[in-house]
Amino acid sequence: MAKFVVTPANEAQRDAWLDRTVPAVERVRPGLWSIPVPIPINPLRYVLVYALELPDGVAIIDAGWNTDEAYDGLVAGLRVAGYEITDVKGVLVTHIHPDHYGLAGRIREVSGAWIALHPKDAALVHERYDDSAIDRLVEKERGLLVRAGVPALTLDELAGASMMIRHMVSMAKPDRLVEDGDRLDLPGWDLRAVWTPGHSPGHLCFVSESRRLLFSGDHVLAKITPIVAVHPQSGPNPLADYLDSLAAVRKFDVEEVLPAHEYRFLELAERVDYVMAHHDERLAEVEQAAQGLSCWDIATRLTWSRPWETIPPFMRRSANGETLAHLVWLEAKGRVRREAGEPDLWFATEG
Ligand SMILES: [Zn+2]
Ligand SMILES: [Zn+2]
Repeated sequence: MAKFVVTPANEAQRDAWLDRTVPAVERVRPGLWSIPVPIPINPLRYVLVYALELPDGVAIIDAGWNTDEAYDGLVAGLRVAGYEITDVKGVLVTHIHPDHYGLAGRIREVSGAWIALHPKDAALVHERYDDSAIDRLVEKERGLLVRAGVPALTLDELAGASMMIRHMVSMAKPDRLVEDGDRLDLPGWDLRAVWTPGHSPGHLCFVSESRRLLFSGDHVLAKITPIVAVHPQSGPNPLADYLDSLAAVRKFDVEEVLPAHEYRFLELAERVDYVMAHHDERLAEVEQAAQGLSCWDIATRLTWSRPWETIPPFMRRSANGETLAHLVWLEAKGRVRREAGEPDLWFATEG
């Protein structure tokens, strides 16, 4: 597949990503700031929080992890823009993942800001982050992993793989639910929510048609593609959702894409086409490998960015979930069939 490389909106920001440093706080447009907020133990290194100036403060898109380092980074970044954390009036959260949502509750505590989330992700808050519900979630995860054919020895390690990061999220219920097409009530901004499920069931992008900007969260990024996986909190066919959601944003005539990681870039439609082609290729690879094997065995045979043996448990679980997302998509199209069992076995229907 021919590589398509996006044009960075700001080369210094792109270079910071490539040099593994943190980019500067930046005034992107009049009234709009980009603030990198550090995230721990994660190759993504920072989340880009966008601060939108309002007559009486700022609204921010995404928040960062619930760590002191992230909080201090956000406070310092807002100061560069001329604001205090207490000036934050609203937190628009693109999705429930800890690097976006984790700090929202703490910000609300100090500033009184409202927190907005899509109802589909709001519905997951309790199960994901409340201690009373977590055993059930781990049990569901275990059931999925057994049917995927994860070897018994690896099972415990994988089923609890995300427990270590749970404390970095404060379990904040949202104050506002934002649905597809909703206009956000932010004076001076014509911001509209676009529901883009796939990476998360309630993922939201925000588009400003007058400023021709798309805040893309984790949905469309400059270099990496977001994880789209089957897991206890995913939709039944998350890859179908994701590909539909790519089509839903492709049509926007924007001049710049403002993602939550890496760096801003210019070509939305071309990047979307490239990501779609990447999944087509991946689907063909998964289909070819489906020769009466479990999902896990198929996953071990695919090409990953590094050898399977060197992938840590948390990422192997994602790899398994991503493989399953591709299998489920192919099953819905009739290109593979599943022989149900423990594990399920997968067969390509042609060739
Ligand atoms: Zn995410
Ligand atoms: Zn993210």
